[in-house]
Amino acid sequence: MKNLNLNKNINRDEAIRLSDHIWWVGHVLPDDKFQCHVYLIENGTESVLVDPGSKLTFRYVLKKIETIIPFNHIKYFICQHQDPDITGALGLIDQLVTRDDAMIISHWRAMALLKHYGLDLPMWCVEKNNWELTLSKGRKLEFIFTPYLHFPGAFCTFDRQSGILFSSDIFGAFVESASLFADDESYFEGIKFFHEHYMPSREILFSGLCRLEAYPIKMVAPQHGFIIPEPMVKFYFDQLKNIDCGIYMMVQTSTDIMHLSRLNRILRNFMSTMILYRSFSDIGRSLLELIRDVLPIETFECYAINESDIIIHIAEESMFRGVEAELPERFKGLMGIDKMAWEKKFGSDLVIETQNQAENNASHSSEKQSAILPLTSSESMKVFGIAMILFSGPIVLDSETEKTLIRMADPLSVAVEREMIQRGMEIEKQKFYEQAIRDSLTGLYTRVYMNEAVNRLFSLQDRNPSTGIAVIMFDIDLFKRINDTYGHNEGDIVLKSISGIILDAVRDSDIPVRIGGEEFAVFLAGEDSKQAVQIAERIRSHIEQLTLSSPLDKEHFSISAGVAFRTPGQSIKQVLYQADLALYEAKQTGRNKVVRFAVSQ
Ligand code: GH3
Ligand code: MG
Ligand code: MG
Repeated sequence: MKNLNLNKNINRDEAIRLSDHIWWVGHVLPDDKFQCHVYLIENGTESVLVDPGSKLTFRYVLKKIETIIPFNHIKYFICQHQDPDITGALGLIDQLVTRDDAMIISHWRAMALLKHYGLDLPMWCVEKNNWELTLSKGRKLEFIFTPYLHFPGAFCTFDRQSGILFSSDIFGAFVESASLFADDESYFEGIKFFHEHYMPSREILFSGLCRLEAYPIKMVAPQHGFIIPEPMVKFYFDQLKNIDCGIYMMVQTSTDIMHLSRLNRILRNFMSTMILYRSFSDIGRSLLELIRDVLPIETFECYAINESDIIIHIAEESMFRGVEAELPERFKGLMGIDKMAWEKKFGSDLVIETQNQAENNASHSSEKQSAILPLTSSESMKVFGIAMILFSGPIVLDSETEKTLIRMADPLSVAVEREMIQRGMEIEKQKFYEQAIRDSLTGLYTRVYMNEAVNRLFSLQDRNPSTGIAVIMFDIDLFKRINDTYGHNEGDIVLKSISGIILDAVRDSDIPVRIGGEEFAVFLAGEDSKQAVQIAERIRSHIEQLTLSSPLDKEHFSISAGVAFRTPGQSIKQVLYQADLALYEAKQTGRNKVVRFAVSQ
């Protein structure tokens, strides 16, 4: 939205007309970000002063009023809440007023406090008067209860005739500039800090705003900050409804509202990241960005342990995808301990480590510091993980930043636990799968895997018959004798050595399988298949040259092979049968040889 240029030609040393008979009569104190506004509703001898101001400002306010009407025309002094910057001037007003019918208008809770000024002026209670005041000349003021924004007893005043909402602290802001109007969207930053800081909750603010929105508002005239003109009213309502509140609750040492607001934004954004994303890669990246906003951090990583004692490491280098890892030595005593034990050991959740303690991590130079945080399961309050933030330089954390980081530990625990369960399951599944597809003695594939992988290969050939597929079947010659002579264990060594030779001789794209006891098959596809006989021959010749250590050092080993080529449409069984026939022939004709299946067989 373009700038409305409303601040041009504004002279704040004079009363400023906002609408017919409505005037700004405030006074701006030098260097006061809290500039306090006073508004005059000019209505003959029933004029109204909204939020009169303090002892510091009132003589200037009075001067401005008197450029418009005699002070004595003011009958009503509305105090929308009881803050000193609104009511501090009441003592002076009490002395100045000469008419008998003047009165202070407020809410009973505020009045219970204003009583202590010991004023002569009578008080008029909004809730005893149906929340409205009818003035002469047909003017009516409506009062809207907005409790806890920021006091019990606070309200706003709506003047139906002009459509101006005197909004008290709502839409208030910290402002530096000499403007009076919010003539673009930038004023919202000031509003945000103002409310984020002291408003206890978003819900309270939201419900107050919904109540106000029901009125046909043409202008918002807050007690602090800038006046919001009609084209901006909707924008500011919508924005304000979405801000987060309650930073003051975590404040102990800092009054740096910008910093607190940034911290608050981290927490809020982190929560929404958690809700939005399920994958830790997204959560990790976003978390990194968020923390970088307030701290010089290099990276962050987490270690977590699952029920099967698998350690998952989540770090930027693996794109925050949990991978199985070793737990660094210094974390070993910490996994599984109670949260209380952690606190007892370190005195705080957040532990700052210098790099001497963290020297295991050789990639980081010795000046650097890191912070570690326990990740605890919500069920058992046991430490199942550790989050570690690595700073890019020496660091001193203020207590609010420290608290923010600590508060992040809970949502982070949930995210890490979720990642750990997912990755842990994947890792275990992978292990089971490996076990199921690889024969543990020889490292060759099992028949289970063969059925799956070879069928895939076959269907490829069925669709594209020019793809060649060959199978070599091997059987160790006279193997029974080895077992009988040296025992089963020595037999196993031979089996392992021979399958090692087969594994070495084939390529990754080939499928070497342990078919049974000392029988193997190798499936070859594409260019390799044309070489099947040569490959079988090479393997045979390598095995012939195999020598093993004592007691097998005197033994010679050999293997027989049968090679068959698949024609499209043949099943595994059919192809293996043909290779087996060729193998049988090899055995029959003297062993230690390769025979190619021929149709005549
Ligand atoms: P041939 O040249 O005719 O194949 O003679 P062979 O002695 O190898 O004959 P056969 O196939 O009948 O013998 C296979 C032997 O392999 C029998 C069995 O004890 C042995 N065997 C099978 N599986 C294993 C195993 O896992 N470990 C060991 N050590 N021996 C095995
Ligand atoms: Mg056999
Ligand atoms: Mg054999």
